[in-house]
Formats: sequence, C-alpha cells, structure tokens
Amino acid sequence: METLELVWFRNDLRCRDQSALARAREQGPVVAVYCFCPEQLARHGVGGNRIAFLLRCLKALRKELDDLGMPLKVLRCPTFDAVPKGLLSLARTIGARRLWFNDEYPVNERLRDSGVEDIFAGAGIDIVRGSDTVIRAPGTVLTQAGTPYTVFTPFRRRWLESIHPEDLAPLPRPRRQTRPDISSDDIPDLPSGCEVQAPADMWPGGEDEALKRLERFVDVGLEGYREQRDFPAMDGTSTLSPWLSVGAVSPRQCLHAALECNDGRLDGGSAGATTWITELIWREFYRHVTAAFPHVSRGQAFRPDYDAMQWRADPEQFDAWREGRTGYPLVDAAMRQLAQTGWMHNRLRMVVAMFLSKNLLLDWRLGEAHFMEHLVDGDFASNNGGWQWSASTGTDAAPYFRVFNPVTQSRRFDPDGHFIRRYVPELASLGLPQLHAPWKAHDALLEYPGPLVDAAASRRRAIDAFRALGG
Ligand SMILES: Cc1cc2nc3c(=O)[nH]c(=O)nc-3n(C[C@H](O)[C@H](O)[C@H](O)COP(=O)(O)OP(=O)(O)OC[C@H]3O[C@@H](n4cnc5c(N)ncnc54)[C@H](O)[C@@H]3O)c2cc1C
Repeated sequence: METLELVWFRNDLRCRDQSALARAREQGPVVAVYCFCPEQLARHGVGGNRIAFLLRCLKALRKELDDLGMPLKVLRCPTFDAVPKGLLSLARTIGARRLWFNDEYPVNERLRDSGVEDIFAGAGIDIVRGSDTVIRAPGTVLTQAGTPYTVFTPFRRRWLESIHPEDLAPLPRPRRQTRPDISSDDIPDLPSGCEVQAPADMWPGGEDEALKRLERFVDVGLEGYREQRDFPAMDGTSTLSPWLSVGAVSPRQCLHAALECNDGRLDGGSAGATTWITELIWREFYRHVTAAFPHVSRGQAFRPDYDAMQWRADPEQFDAWREGRTGYPLVDAAMRQLAQTGWMHNRLRMVVAMFLSKNLLLDWRLGEAHFMEHLVDGDFASNNGGWQWSASTGTDAAPYFRVFNPVTQSRRFDPDGHFIRRYVPELASLGLPQLHAPWKAHDALLEYPGPLVDAAASRRRAIDAFRALGG
C-alpha cells in the first residue's frame, strides 16, 4: 500500500498556490486535515461572522479536495491543547508518512505547533513546515544589524529588494490522485451561541470566489486604487481581506496579479498597482511584528511605556461607540457598516479606532476585541497592528498628538455624504455641510444624538494623557 502524506490546513484554505499541499502531493497521495477548535476561537474572541465564513470556506475546500481525490478529515478539538494528540492519532490511523503544514505566527499557534512537533518527533513521524501565509517569512526581512524592523518604510524597502518577481509564479492546483479508501468528514455546524450578522451572500466562501474577485479588482479597480481607496462610498478597494484572512487566496496570487498589470514592476509604473502592493506589504509587516514581538499577542502594547496609560472606564460611551450613537455621523456610519456587513472600510477603521482611543480615551484593546467579534476578516496581526497604530502604542504608530478630527475626516472622505446617508438614514434629509456636523443644523434632530464629546477638548485631553507618560 502506498504511504500517505497528511496535509494540515490552517489559515490556507485553498488548493491552488498552497505550498504544503503542492509539495506533499509531489511525494505521494494526500489526505487533508483541518482542526476545528471552537473553544479556542472563543478564547481568541473570534466572532460568528468570521467563523461562519471560515466554515463556508472549509466546505468549498472539501469540494475542491474531493475533485482532486483527496479526503478531508475534520478533527473537532475544543482547544489547541487537543490538537497534537488528535493529529498523531489520525496520522497513525491512516499510516501517514509525514505531516505538512504552513506556519502561523501568533503565540498560541506557535505553542500548538511546537506541541505537534514534539509529539510527532516522539512517534518518529516527520514534519515538513513551510511558509505560505506571507510572501516573505518572518525572520527573512531584517535590518542590517539582523534585527526585525519596527518601522514600516524601511521594512517595505527591504521587502521589495528581497523579492524576485520571477519567483512569484503561483503554484498550480495539484495533480488529481486515485482516491484512498478514506471518507471525507462533515463540515461542523456553527457553534451554538455564535451570532452572525454578516449576510452570507455578501461573503461567499471558497477560492473560486476569491480568484473571481481578484480578477475583477485588477481589471477594473487597480488602476484607480490610489485615488479611490480612501472614499468609503466608492467600491475602491478589493474587499479581499476575508479571503486573505483564511487563506482562500494567497498573498502571492494577489501580488502576482498586480504585477501582471504593472509590466512585472514591483515599484514604479502604475500608481494604483504600487499603492495596492504597499497595502499587501503592510499585511506582511504586521505578521513579521507578531512573530518577532510575542508580547503583542499577550495583550500588551508594542511600546511597553504605554502600558501605564490610564485609559478611562466609561461603559456608556463604549456602548455608544459600538452601536453607532456617538453623534459623529462618519463614526456612526462606520460602526453601523461593521454591525450590518461584518466589514469596515480601511479609512473608517482608522477613524473609529482613533475616536475610541483618543477622543474617548478608552482602552484600544476594547476596540480590538469588538472588531474581532464582528469582522468577517478578523485577523490577529492586522487587527492588533491597526489598533496599536491608531492608539499610538504600536510599531511605527501615528504619533500621539496626531488625532483625526472626525468632522474633517467626514468632509474629506465622504464629501457628498453618500456613505453617511446609506448607514445613518435618520440624517438622510440633511443637506451639506450640516450632514457632517448635524448639531449645527437649525432643525432639531430628535432621533440623532448630539456629539458624545467635544472633538477639540477630547483631543487635548488625549494629548495631555500621552504627554504625561513622557511620550
Ligand atoms: C483598527 C484597524 C483594524 C484592522 N483590522 C483588520 C483585520 O482584522 N483584518 C484585516 O485583514 N485587516 C485589518 N485591518 C487592515 C485593513 O483595514 C483591511 O485589511 C482592509 O480594509 C481590507 O479591505 P480590502 O480587502 O478591500 O483591502 P485592499 O485595500 O484591497 O488591500 C488589499 C489587502 O491588503 C491588506 N491590507 C490592506 N490594508 C492593510 C493594513 N492597513 N494593514 C494590514 N493589511 C492591510 C489586506 O489583506 C487587504 O485585503 C485593520 C485596520 C485598522 C486600522
């Protein structure tokens, strides 16, 4: 009997350009496995929108694998603690020769993986690890002194120097195989108690959908990306983040598609393409930071001096922020977009994160957790990086005295008010410029609250609080 290769899928739920799968298949027939850990997801604060999307992607993956003759086993492990034994038991049952997987970087994932390595070493079964959730693995883009970068611009420069476009061709779908006599498992149901608000038809699962979106975006969106990406009322960005976060599309596929539209140039050429590539590099940067600075996975500020910050405790204001009732229309529209769709435009993520951490002076970790609970693209590294950037506690963060004014942002990035009118319908009848600052309207708007804080006074309060820390 031919020995089998066991491929462990994690945040790389695709068959094309999946290096663990491609390399394993070159060695022999493959059995795939996924470990579903609902209690661990709950501990990580991952919400129903993301879990439901992940399960849709898993279902699509099972179909793709079935077409290739590869069974998908699904291990139900409450937490990561049960994963090593579960995988070993499966490997033994099917007589696997090797276990293959692509690395992940947050602390608990790394602890889980070393547990798997230990138990497999004890059992004499080889493990082959790769790196496929990033284009350049953490530890391979370092300063001249051999240390990890903590500032984005030089990281980006070095990252670009380290890339050879000719090496970026995505790996094809692996060859079909004769199906081993092993059945695929059912995909788990959504764990009880998970709440899902994001419409399923807005975020269909699977790599075919991701590749369709990627193709459409590079065809019609990439050229104008630089000009349009900051305007939430436009379809100016790819909306690929959910698929990237579960690995239904790889960052290499994205980069490759952008390069094809830019004569193979990583830098220079189309401003749309190079700006989009820079966003993909931000994604890489935060993964490198997560890998190099484990304290960020433990709820600590990247800059330890900021852990002394006395954040205010104000549950009522936090609720107003969560529910889109701050009285600042752009902030409220953004929070309602998140509540209704499970996604929020990048410009607005920065606006609402600054509003929470600076104007309200509430702990950024509350906001980080709220995002994780609702985002369909919830991703530890990018979420933590984005929150710490906005709260000025992170790598290369916005300096603490930089506080977006929510009305100025509104006038600048939703100049016609289309986005606000879509998500805050009670303001729809207001004309400009009052729409951006409704408290200035002559008619009382009984159904819309007044501003929760004064923007200028709360900005000064935040700057004073940061300055008191010696920042
Ligand atoms: C406070 C805050 C929280 C965030 N939380 C998350 C999160 O949980 N998950 C997540 O995927 N992104 C997060 N981001 C980054 C960014 O907002 C989203 O990736 C982006 O809005 C996704 O939309 P898109 O796919 O249309 O992006 P596009 O503009 O089309 O960009 C392409 C891809 O590049 C990556 N990317 C773009 N901008 C960033 C960025 N600033 N940082 C890291 N990667 C980026 C994403 O993978 C994105 O899909 C956060 C940003 C902030 C400020």
